[in-house]
Amino acid sequence: MEAIDELISARWIIPIEPASVVLEHHTIAVKAGRILGVFPEANAQQRFTARTQTELPNHVVIPGLVNLHAHSAMTLMRGLADDLPLMKWLGEHIWPAEAKHVSPEFVYDGTLLAAAEMVRGGITCCNDMYFFPEDAGRAFAEAKMRAALGLIVIDFPTAYANDPADYLHKGLAMRDALKHEPLLSYCIAPHAPYTVGDKTFEQVVTLADELDLPIHLHVHETQDEIREGEAKYGARPLARLHRLGVLGPNLIAVHSVHLSPAEIEQYAALGVSVAHCPSSNLKLASGFAPTPALLEAGVNTGLGTDGAASNNRLDMFQEIRTAALCAKALSGRADVLGAMTALRMATLHGARALGLEKEIGSIEAGKSADLCAVAMDSLELTPCYHPASHLVYACAREHVSDVWVAGNRLLRNRQLTHIDQARLKAKAVLWQTKLMANA
Ligand SMILES: [Zn+2]
Repeated sequence: MEAIDELISARWIIPIEPASVVLEHHTIAVKAGRILGVFPEANAQQRFTARTQTELPNHVVIPGLVNLHAHSAMTLMRGLADDLPLMKWLGEHIWPAEAKHVSPEFVYDGTLLAAAEMVRGGITCCNDMYFFPEDAGRAFAEAKMRAALGLIVIDFPTAYANDPADYLHKGLAMRDALKHEPLLSYCIAPHAPYTVGDKTFEQVVTLADELDLPIHLHVHETQDEIREGEAKYGARPLARLHRLGVLGPNLIAVHSVHLSPAEIEQYAALGVSVAHCPSSNLKLASGFAPTPALLEAGVNTGLGTDGAASNNRLDMFQEIRTAALCAKALSGRADVLGAMTALRMATLHGARALGLEKEIGSIEAGKSADLCAVAMDSLELTPCYHPASHLVYACAREHVSDVWVAGNRLLRNRQLTHIDQARLKAKAVLWQTKLMANA
């Protein structure tokens, strides 16, 4: 008998890899934060003695969800301004509020609030882009959640940095300061083609190559962005980015709402990943990303929530369902983007985009034990014929019962184990008072 840390037995397990498999009455064996394997329940009991035995008799266990695009600290601006087009929303509300209030404390508190929300919704990894990423990193580390932190760069000054060189310098220092944190990884995060100039993109490409990091970038989010890019640079933003060497297998192209068939082919040929954020695109009236065509072309497409100011939920269950529904409506085909594909996008595709596909994204031997258990015994989920169908079309994040990151249980029967909720809420209310006083 091998002594291990935990045996997690569940009614169903959807490991994502192998694809489209639903295991019944199986057990996940966890040792030192890693998955040793998935076994039929009786086999696991014969083979292992575990310090902790977890029984989930009415639950489905899936890999922890990967939120491929977020601005976590914006939880503190949730609901501050809504029902506006993107540039008006950014220029007249979000950027002025950020200029007045964003600070290391704001980012730390806002990110911890986001981490608590995400863990409660089954999200175990978040690809984050915001100012003061070192403080975001400290919040994720305190929450014991996995995150990819963006070394953000914009051509104009903010409270965080003065110019592109200053942004990149601070980003590199952040990466150095947090290098002992095992759950943190990094992306170079140029904000968007309309906020970053050619020279900065050239530096971004060099740095991403040197450090072997993904590039996390908003691109082709709106028609206006494309028109303005054409007027200013004489080319569509993606053509300009290709000329600058930005397109490649390490690019996470966020939104990618407006793509020509040739641009979709180009993404596939160059191995670009997409972070599809359907709720944000719907709310800001950006349009419908061509997800069916992207998937058909073989483009690695993950899902993201975007920031809480533009969505307004950091809720991957909502994104999974919305992505599936929009793809069907857009293509006129109900058989497009089925439940298993939607779940794969929210897990393994996100992991692959971040270069973490060997570490997370599926329940396989050797991977980190980043897991999400969903209770299927509530009234609205009974009966359950196909757990994958329920996860995508019937469940909400409130059905998530337990969450592990690297074998560490962050949510136990809906209770956060590492975050003091009352203290976090009190801090959020303090920030609300500050933002309202200076609005
Ligand atoms: Zn965004």
